[in-house]
Amino acid sequence: MDLEYTASERAFRDEVRAFVTANLPADLSAKVLEAKRLTRDDFMRWHKILAAKGWVAAGWPQQYGGPGWTPVQQHLFDEECAAAGAPVILPFGVRMVAPVIMAFGSQAQKDYFLPRILSGEDWWCQGYSEPGSGSDLASLKTRAERQGDHYIVNGQKTWNTLGQYADWIFCLVRTATEGRPQEGISFLLIDMKTPGVTVRPIRMLDGEEEINEVWFENVKVPVDQRVGEENKGWTYAKFLLGHERTGIAGVGKSKRELQKLKGIARKERASGRPLIEDARFRDRIAQIEIELLALEVTNLRVLSEEGTRKGPGPEASILKVRGSEIQQSLSELMMQAVGHYGVPYVREALDADYKGETVGGDYAAPLAGVYFNMRKTSIYSGSNEIQKNIISQMVLGL
Ligand SMILES: Cc1cc2nc3c(=O)[nH]c(=O)nc-3n(C[C@H](O)[C@H](O)[C@H](O)COP(=O)(O)OP(=O)(O)OC[C@H]3O[C@@H](n4cnc5c(N)ncnc54)[C@H](O)[C@@H]3O)c2cc1C
Repeated sequence: MDLEYTASERAFRDEVRAFVTANLPADLSAKVLEAKRLTRDDFMRWHKILAAKGWVAAGWPQQYGGPGWTPVQQHLFDEECAAAGAPVILPFGVRMVAPVIMAFGSQAQKDYFLPRILSGEDWWCQGYSEPGSGSDLASLKTRAERQGDHYIVNGQKTWNTLGQYADWIFCLVRTATEGRPQEGISFLLIDMKTPGVTVRPIRMLDGEEEINEVWFENVKVPVDQRVGEENKGWTYAKFLLGHERTGIAGVGKSKRELQKLKGIARKERASGRPLIEDARFRDRIAQIEIELLALEVTNLRVLSEEGTRKGPGPEASILKVRGSEIQQSLSELMMQAVGHYGVPYVREALDADYKGETVGGDYAAPLAGVYFNMRKTSIYSGSNEIQKNIISQMVLGL
């Protein structure tokens, strides 16, 4: 394969860069680059700017409002947005539930939900995991009992990312207990305002409340909010997970964080000299840079093969494992660069308008939070141990 971008791809990159430079609000970009706390409104502001341009759903077919980009164009778009400090487009609506609705939903579901996902009118969250059902997802217990034209849902979901803002949740529920556990699962779309839905925050290692428990007590869900057939939800769930894992390499964001790491290492001092001149620290930066380059090449190889196959294959697991390891290493090295100045955790320093003094310079204050937050990357979207099992079975044939 040819790893050089073509002239038209380079022109596309310039077009994206010009648009992002002209349209990304400076306060939003500052928040992202300085690792400040993002609100619902922050995510939605950028979503709506991209929606107005027709660029919010990079991977969607044009018939549903996608821009019709090739996988390489999508990658270039991701890189440009990350470099400029744009908030991520949250995957739950655009990249997760939308492809499932397009592939398996009714016409009424497509007509109602897809335009609302595109415009940002509805915020979606993912209701897969339960206490005791994470890696072993098919063991999930949340029940949905059919009563005429609706289901009655009872149970608990957990680790629900940003569910506190959500209008809708897509949920795996148990509709049968006979046969293999995978055969009794259905895929429901549930309005979070339905009586009986309760969201409770979970405080994370970084002190933030980014994830939640969601409880269902006798929640009445119309049958026409089920996607596809009853008891066939496992097929749709796996289809969704394939989409969740593409784009997970996070190359653009890691490139940006690498530059940030170098900037910090230029400012910090070790034995009276800039840390970046310390041979051991420089070697560690170089090692990560090499690994990131290798990941980028692998990412491009996967992208160049996409479209020749039905969906993302097991190589998505390789991107997930290496991408998350690199993100974690970058946050570790930043913490090491600032040393003990990174230890005090000042929660308010994550607010954009914080005026207080921070120990060790303004870039040091959020680093401990970022370091702890990054521990999640090797767990969510299917833990790295499970991804390695997939690679060993499906790629290496072990
Ligand atoms: C920050 C964060 C956000 C999340 N957001 C969401 C969300 O929005 N919606 C949602 O539905 N879920 C979400 N999750 C849940 C996530 O998908 C699960 O945490 C993940 O699948 C792991 O499941 P578990 O936590 O039950 O761990 P377990 O499955 O109990 O695993 C515990 C450990 O054992 C290992 N292990 C388990 N089985 C095997 C095996 N067969 N071989 C080798 N090792 C094994 C695991 O890799 C892990 O290290 C989120 C998780 C986190 C941390």
